[in-house]
Amino acid sequence: MRCDAVPAASVSLGYADRVVVIGELTPERDPNLLDLCDEHVGRMTPPVGWTVRDERLPAPAPVERVERVERVERVLSTP
Ligand SMILES: [Zn+2]
Repeated sequence: MRCDAVPAASVSLGYADRVVVIGELTPERDPNLLDLCDEHVGRMTPPVGWTVRDERLPAPAPVERVERVERVERVLSTP
């Protein structure tokens, strides 16, 4: 499948369990994995009888991000 979009995830096929695993994009190109862009990950339909398992890390909630910044600022401002 030719797509010029930036890959966003690496997909592997678990034949034994009939599962399509969506994982974080691997830094190194792996011939056993299929790098897909967000759009193609979203449009991917597993073969009949297969399941899709998304193992990517959930994006941190906005609140959590702010708290983290505040914590860092506090640490940095502590003499
Ligand atoms: Zn694509």
